[in-house]
Amino acid sequence: MSNPTIEELRSAARGAVIGPDDGGYEGARAVYNAMIDRRPRVIVRPADVADVMATVTFARSAGLELAVRGGAHSVPGFGTVDDGVVLDLSSLKGIRVDPVTKTVRAQAGCTWGDLDHATHAFGLATTGGILSTTGIAGLSLGGGIGYLGRRYGLTCDNLLSADVVTADGRMVTASAKDHEDLFWALRGGGGNFGVVTEFEYRLHPVKHVYGGPILYDLGRAADVLRWYREYIAAAPEEQGAFFAFLVAPPLPFIPEERHGTNVCGIVTCWSGPLEEGERQTRPFLEDVAPPIGHHTGPMPYPALQSAFDGLHPPGMQNYWKADFVHELTDDAVQAHVEHGANVPHVHSTMHLYPLNGAPQRVAPDETAFAYRDANIAAVIVGMWPDAADNDRNIRWVRDYWEAIHPHDAEGGYINFMSGDDQDRIHANYRGNYDRLTAVKAAYDPDNLFHLNQNIQPSST
Ligand SMILES: Cc1cc2nc3c(=O)[nH]c(=O)nc-3n(C[C@H](O)[C@H](O)[C@H](O)COP(=O)(O)OP(=O)(O)OC[C@H]3O[C@@H](n4cnc5c(N)ncnc54)[C@H](O)[C@@H]3O)c2cc1C
Repeated sequence: MSNPTIEELRSAARGAVIGPDDGGYEGARAVYNAMIDRRPRVIVRPADVADVMATVTFARSAGLELAVRGGAHSVPGFGTVDDGVVLDLSSLKGIRVDPVTKTVRAQAGCTWGDLDHATHAFGLATTGGILSTTGIAGLSLGGGIGYLGRRYGLTCDNLLSADVVTADGRMVTASAKDHEDLFWALRGGGGNFGVVTEFEYRLHPVKHVYGGPILYDLGRAADVLRWYREYIAAAPEEQGAFFAFLVAPPLPFIPEERHGTNVCGIVTCWSGPLEEGERQTRPFLEDVAPPIGHHTGPMPYPALQSAFDGLHPPGMQNYWKADFVHELTDDAVQAHVEHGANVPHVHSTMHLYPLNGAPQRVAPDETAFAYRDANIAAVIVGMWPDAADNDRNIRWVRDYWEAIHPHDAEGGYINFMSGDDQDRIHANYRGNYDRLTAVKAAYDPDNLFHLNQNIQPSST
């Protein structure tokens, strides 16, 4: 039998099948990280699950590489491929909230903005990323860290089921009752096991939150970090505050003379009773260091979720590195202060996300996400507009990471890893790695889904 042609795929699919000669190809091939410039042979935007099944079967039969993407935020650019097939699920945006069971079903092309918008109308939410533009798909499959995590767990801890098109082109539903091994692997194992077309999540009553950014003088960074370390260790789980080094953006709540200067800060998010929000935020304003400026108050949860979208737009050059942290020691604080003080661009930053709380109540082998004893996820975000500055900015990220890594855990969060971090995959999954390779062998023995932080199928 001869290889299937793109024309055959076109006639089989109801969604858009875009080749290099078609209008819209240039826009369709772009991903979030402008450093990634690849030219796929074909980009498919499916209309339904049948199109996803047809595309997976086409790529496998034609012997072409297959890249899968939802929100296209993968910093290493795993959502695209030269001369291969891109399955761009951004066309699948269906969402159905069930307010009675407090669950939501969302198709894999949704962003967190889409999901938060739909659930907010019912006064409900689940843990998502801290920007509205990130895709639910990649984020959920890697774990999912966000403001609500300390209280409600990682995003993957709220996953109830997933519809998955596997490498053989079939669709299965993975849950605690069906395809349990696949369901286990999907909760942290990334895009290694198939194409998820729909996610079902548990929701929680979250409507308004109290929080926002608080900025401090860089000279107080060591004090702020030490204070944050102690505070967050004992803070109520309704508090999802994270620490940041950044360049002060030109916003009205920041004095003009500080615009464009290096500062540090904490972004708070109190998701408990709103009337307690002001009291819960007061320590950040009064006990740490005098703030340069702050913009805290009550707000709809989706407003905080999208508050920083503008700081991290698509089309920038991106290079990131990351670690999990058990303990932010004084030596680590010193390393952070030395390198965090030099954040090179207003789009770049370093964040410390707290993980103590609900994520730690899940056993390390209960889902693929293994670092259940980590207290913090650290990410150094290099993001800048001009490719001519790549060497300098990549150097800042690498130097920073080399300075903090000796104080951190061996592994890091796979969704914050770079393309050059493939040798860390085993460390990132620790004791879960061998089981992941076995699940991979069961569902994708030929490693069709290899454009990711790749887990190799076990050979037995
Ligand atoms: C600006 C920015 C902010 C971020 N903030 C956070 C945050 O707050 N919290 C957090 O936890 N992470 C965050 N991340 C990291 C984020 O989780 C990862 O980049 C994630 O991969 C993004 O998912 P996506 O769907 O947008 O990406 P995509 O590039 O579309 O997908 C990334 C990879 O996931 C897999 N994948 C995607 N869709 C599917 C699918 N339907 N089925 C199977 N596999 C699939 C594929 O391997 C794909 O290559 C952020 C990233 C960026 C760039």
